[in-house]
Amino acid sequence: MPAADLSHEPSLAQRLVAEHYAVHGKDLLAGGLTIEALADRFGTPLFIYDAEVMRRSFTALEIALNGFADIVYSIKANPNPAVARIFVALGGGIEIASAGEYERARAAGAKPDTILFAGPGKRDSELRHVTENGIGEIHLESFEEIARLDAIAAQANRRIAVAIRINPVAAVQGGAMRMGGKPSPFGFDEEQVDDVLRAVSTATHLDLCGIHMFAGTQILDARVLLAQWRHGLDVAARIARAINRPLRSIDLGGGLGIPYYAGDMPLDLNAVARGIPALLDAKNQGSLLRDARIVVEPGRFLAGPGGLYVARVTATKASRGTSFVVTDGGMHHHLAASGNLGQVVKRDYPVLAPRHMDCLECERVTVVGPLCTPLDTLARAADLPPLKAGDLVAVMQSGAYGPTASPTDFLSHPRPAEVLVDGGRATAIG
Ligand SMILES: *Cc1c(COP(=O)(O)O)cnc(C)c1O
Repeated sequence: MPAADLSHEPSLAQRLVAEHYAVHGKDLLAGGLTIEALADRFGTPLFIYDAEVMRRSFTALEIALNGFADIVYSIKANPNPAVARIFVALGGGIEIASAGEYERARAAGAKPDTILFAGPGKRDSELRHVTENGIGEIHLESFEEIARLDAIAAQANRRIAVAIRINPVAAVQGGAMRMGGKPSPFGFDEEQVDDVLRAVSTATHLDLCGIHMFAGTQILDARVLLAQWRHGLDVAARIARAINRPLRSIDLGGGLGIPYYAGDMPLDLNAVARGIPALLDAKNQGSLLRDARIVVEPGRFLAGPGGLYVARVTATKASRGTSFVVTDGGMHHHLAASGNLGQVVKRDYPVLAPRHMDCLECERVTVVGPLCTPLDTLARAADLPPLKAGDLVAVMQSGAYGPTASPTDFLSHPRPAEVLVDGGRATAIG
C-alpha cells in the first residue's frame, strides 16, 4: 500500500474542517454533536446539514456585497424546506424553476413576492399556479412563453412582473470569461433582444421590469465573477435605453463556486468586496439603472459547505494493489461526488473519517458504494486512516446538489436520512 503524502500543506478536507467544523479528540463535530452520535441516532447513509455554517455562508456574502445586491437562494441546490428556511429567515428570496420548487419555497416560509421563477420549459399549469398564488417575477425564456404567459395572466386578470433572461455574448467557461456566447436553451441570445422587446411590449398583461443573466457555474475567480456582473450591468443599461425607461430589477445570476478538489482555492470574498464600488459607479452612471434592485442567486455557495454526506463502511478489501473501502453510501445519493454529474475529469471531493480525526497514518484508498457499477465510486484516491467495517466516512461540501440531484431509485436502496443540526440539536428533515 503506498503511503500517503504527509507533507505539511493541509489538505482541502483539513482546511474545510478548520474553517467550518470542530474536532474534539478523535471526533468530528457538526453543530456541537459528534458525527458518530448522529450516524447512530439517524442511521446511515445520511446527509447532515449544519445550519450555522449555512448562515455564515449567507452572511459572509451579504457583507461582501455591502448592499449592492440582494441574495436570492437558488433552491434547486438543496430544496429541503428546512434548509431554504435558513436563508429565508436571513432575508433571502428564493429562485425556483418548477411549481414543485414553488411549493417548497412556500413551505420554507418565502412570501410569494420574494420568489423568482426561471427555467426554459415552464408549463402552462405551472405558470397558472404561480400566477394565481402570487409570484415576484417570472423570467421569460422563449417567444412561446411570452405569448402563453400573457394569455394566462389575462385570464387570471393579473399583471405579471417579468424579466427577460439573456444568454450573454460573454460567458464564463472553465472559470474564464469567453467572448462569443455559445448556443444555449436558456433565455434569449443577447443579439435577439430587439425582437424580444417588441414581443413583450405587445403583451398587455406582462410588466417588463428587468433582465436576468446567468452565464456560468462554479466560479472560483473573483475577477471572472465581477467581469460577468459588469457585463450584466452593461446589457441592462443597453436594454433600459432601448425601452427608454428605467429598469426595476437586474438579476446577475448565481454561479459562485466553492472548493471541491485538491488545489481549489475558495472564492475570495474580499476581492469581490473590492470590486463592488466600481460596479456601483457603473450602475449609477445614467438615471435608468439607478433605482434598480440588483439580485444575485447563488445555490451551491450558500448550501454546499454546510453539508456532510456520511456513510458507514461495510467491507474493506484489496484487489491487485488497490485498497477498497466499501460503504453503504454512494452515487445513488451523491452523484456529484462520484464524478458523474457533469464533471469532465473525475476528481475526488474532500473526504475524511469522522471517528479518526487524530490519526496521522493515512493510507491511499478507493471508496466505493454498494451499487453494481464501477460508476459508484465516492473517492478514487483518498488518504484516510486505516478503516474497518463499522467505521464512518464523510464527504464534505455536500450540502448542494446532493440527494435531489442523484438517481436515488437506482438499485432500490432506501433514501438517505437528512438531518439538520442547529444549536446543539438535531432534527430529521427528510
Ligand atoms: C442552477 C441555477 C442557479 C444556481 O447555480 P449555482 O451554481 O448553484 O449558484 C442560479 N440561477 C439559475 C437560473 C439556475 O438555474
